[in-house]
Amino acid sequence: MKKLRKAVQDYVALRRALGFKLEKVEAGLLDFVSFLERQGSSHITTARALQWATQPSHVQPVVWAQRLSFVRGFSRHWSAIDPRTEIPPWGLLPYRPLRARPYLYSEEEIRQLLISMCAAEYITHPIQIDTPFELLRNYADLAASFAFEEMLPVLVSQTPMGAQVNNSMAYHQPVGVCGLIPTWNFPLFVTAQKIGPALATGCTMILKPSPYAPLIDLLVAEAIEQCDLPKGVFNVVTGESPDLGAALVESPLVDKISYTGSVATGKKILAAAAPTMKRVHLELGGKSAAIILDDADLDIVAPFTSGPSFFHAGQGCAMCTRVLVPKPKHDGLLDRLTNFVGAFVKVGDPADPSVMLGPVIREERRQKIEEYIGAGKREGAVLALGGGRPADLPRGYFLQPTIFGAVRNDMRIAREEIFGPVLSVLPFGDTEEAIRIANESTFGLGGAVYTPDVAKGLEVAKRIRTGTVNINGAVSLLHTPFGGFKESGIGREGGRWGIQEYSEIQAIAWK
Ligand code: NAD
Repeated sequence: MKKLRKAVQDYVALRRALGFKLEKVEAGLLDFVSFLERQGSSHITTARALQWATQPSHVQPVVWAQRLSFVRGFSRHWSAIDPRTEIPPWGLLPYRPLRARPYLYSEEEIRQLLISMCAAEYITHPIQIDTPFELLRNYADLAASFAFEEMLPVLVSQTPMGAQVNNSMAYHQPVGVCGLIPTWNFPLFVTAQKIGPALATGCTMILKPSPYAPLIDLLVAEAIEQCDLPKGVFNVVTGESPDLGAALVESPLVDKISYTGSVATGKKILAAAAPTMKRVHLELGGKSAAIILDDADLDIVAPFTSGPSFFHAGQGCAMCTRVLVPKPKHDGLLDRLTNFVGAFVKVGDPADPSVMLGPVIREERRQKIEEYIGAGKREGAVLALGGGRPADLPRGYFLQPTIFGAVRNDMRIAREEIFGPVLSVLPFGDTEEAIRIANESTFGLGGAVYTPDVAKGLEVAKRIRTGTVNINGAVSLLHTPFGGFKESGIGREGGRWGIQEYSEIQAIAWK
């Protein structure tokens, strides 16, 4: 036990020498040792640390225990590797459990949890429930098929001793201890996009769920607890305080942060990660544009362009909440959009399968969205539909589906992410102007092009500065990379791009 106290004191001294702030860490770690002493055990496990951790400052010892388990796992990774295979041992471990459908809870229980926790309407369930399991299966496959050892061309070089044949490989090491901070809107989806590649690559992780949607991550933890994953590889720390996430970001024991959330918090994370030079992966907000080209049929296009703004009450990052239409077609589109939305978008209780638009996540968010609606009116946009609260739903944070026409790109409703059921229609002169308007944004997450001429659509798509673009409503969530340009983020999730985000690439040469 004395040895442990000494180790902690050394660690704290090292941190002090490196110039880190000490208050929380010092108190937390030494307190943790006292806790262990009272338990009569000097064996640090993440489970023990979690048992003890009840305050934000306690996240540090959890991270510390986590670090030890990574180091242990890492040496295991080295000693256990079979030179005939490219599969890292940890990569294999999640294979079996992740292949199973949820087995502790039925799909219906997961569905009800998502409905009650984050008002997930039935129409969102394919993405809320099915896609995350597909993603985990994909990552499990990648754990087996990804070239973690990539052999490179042989190089013959001249040395004073004569010609030399050099072999080399790019080896993908796990990046290390990962702090994962997801958001609440599609919580299982966002968590799967983080734990899937982290597990497949052989990392250890601490998941810090959004305070608005922690239960689904605890359910994931329960499922993982049943797996044959070594203890300590996967951990969850819940709590309301932003200090929990901040502690992960500041900790020198965490090698990488993967965060999904707002741009404002993303910027704070990037700055706080700089002193420890940790890898930062950011999936942030968007203000995506759908461009309707001159040759598109408005009757076909209107339902596709109206849908995203009202899907999950507009609380999605890559939704095209700006719809760009040729000037002569502006009024025609507005009529079709309001008719379609008025007829098909039913507002109400998300537990009702026929409801398309449920409440927004909390009152504070509803008031913010209403502020934007007010700004749209004041700045001269034409309110074509909605704009208020539904009179028949006095309880709950409901808003009417809202459509503005004649929006200019310099208006707040066109520039800022509203994250609510509000759609803006912007008229444009020619395709060049449409591309310029689409790109005139600090964001760069999603985009769409509508045209019967797919070749033309592809040309326009390649000029849009966003991480994803779909043409004519195509869907591509499973096999494609996902992430943002500009202030929409750094890094990519999905498929082999996700695996790369959780790897440190090492060059090894031999002769
Ligand atoms: P938010 O900024 O409120 O982030 C919340 C999370 O960050 C919480 O877990 C909170 O505890 C934590 N946090 C707060 N301060 C922190 C700090 N200083 N350091 C570390 N962690 C901290 O965002 P939100 O409201 O949860 O999410 C909404 C945003 O998420 C929208 O902008 C949306 O576009 C974006 N989003 C992006 C994607 C994507 O993949 N690009 C997906 C979904 C949502």
